Amino acid sequence: MIRVNKPVQAPKVLRDRAAAARSAVCAVYRGARAAIQRGETTLAFDRGLYAHRDVKKSLEEAHHGKCCYCESKVKHVTAGDVEHYRPKAAVQQARTAPVERPGYYWLAYEWGNLLFSCGICNGTHKRNLFPLGNPEARARSRRAKLSAEKPLLVHPEQDEPEQLIGYRDEYAYAIDGDQRAEVTVNEMLRLNDRPSLLERRRDHLAHVRRLQEIATMPDVPAALRAEASAWLARSVAAEAEYASMTRAALRPSSH
Ligand SMILES: [Zn+2]
Repeated sequence: MIRVNKPVQAPKVLRDRAAAARSAVCAVYRGARAAIQRGETTLAFDRGLYAHRDVKKSLEEAHHGKCCYCESKVKHVTAGDVEHYRPKAAVQQARTAPVERPGYYWLAYEWGNLLFSCGICNGTHKRNLFPLGNPEARARSRRAKLSAEKPLLVHPEQDEPEQLIGYRDEYAYAIDGDQRAEVTVNEMLRLNDRPSLLERRRDHLAHVRRLQEIATMPDVPAALRAEASAWLARSVAAEAEYASMTRAALRPSSH
């Protein structure tokens, strides 16, 4: 995970329509609170708005077409998901904890709550999980203070992910045992428990390390060494797949 910087201003479609859509969903909730909490009725969200092509395009650009959590380039195989950092429909403190309804329904169209992710991080692993260090402070309505919450999921825009999550080879770990990084990596996203992701990371690292050798071999032609160096420079740029892992691998102190 690397730090993501998206435009401060929401896309026009959200600026024009998010407030009314939020009011509408809040009104539905007020009218059927008990049934929604019991799961007899579910809140409907306007996917055509929060995942509008302009919203998605802006998110994709800011995320360089990569999943905000696992840093896989997703666009060549899937459309990718507009991900709600705070889940909109329901929430769970832990995988084994009860599903609480509703979720952060009033944030469904909130630009600050939207990220770009792959379907595996979002749909298979994270889902409704949103553990807090202080679950008693969980915001239940628009009037509650989000700033009182201590989310355990590392935020790609509000945190400095690379100061919290490190890599040993293709495996992510919590730097200095940081609790939030630990929960993010191992409980929420299971980054070290996904064989195909690990295989892809491992292959990527093998290439990076080979190029690193080539870049420093004295008997290799200078032009080839330069080409290897240029490739390595690109592999740690924000646009590069698995940039945080590659940066860790190329950092002299990492091993
Ligand atoms: Zn992902």
